[in-house]
Amino acid sequence: MPSSNEMSCRDLVELVTDYLEAALPAPDRLRFEEHLAQCPPCQAYLDQMRQTVGALGRLPRDTISDDAKRGLLEVFRDWKKRPTT
Ligand SMILES: [Zn+2]
Repeated sequence: MPSSNEMSCRDLVELVTDYLEAALPAPDRLRFEEHLAQCPPCQAYLDQMRQTVGALGRLPRDTISDDAKRGLLEVFRDWKKRPTT
């Protein structure tokens, strides 16, 4: 990572509920969207969250377990090991 200003997938997962609630301050929102633009797994995660919100009619803030987050981050790790062809 060239810059400490860059958001990691872990940060994005932590912030996704705030993002969907439009509760992120503008600078964070910008970094969130910059990361998203170049990270397909996070795009998929955001899509999944949006669908969940659509299904529940609210943000599943209390239902995202730490286990689920850990599993997700493993998916990200595997994804990034793949050659980008
Ligand atoms: Zn990411």
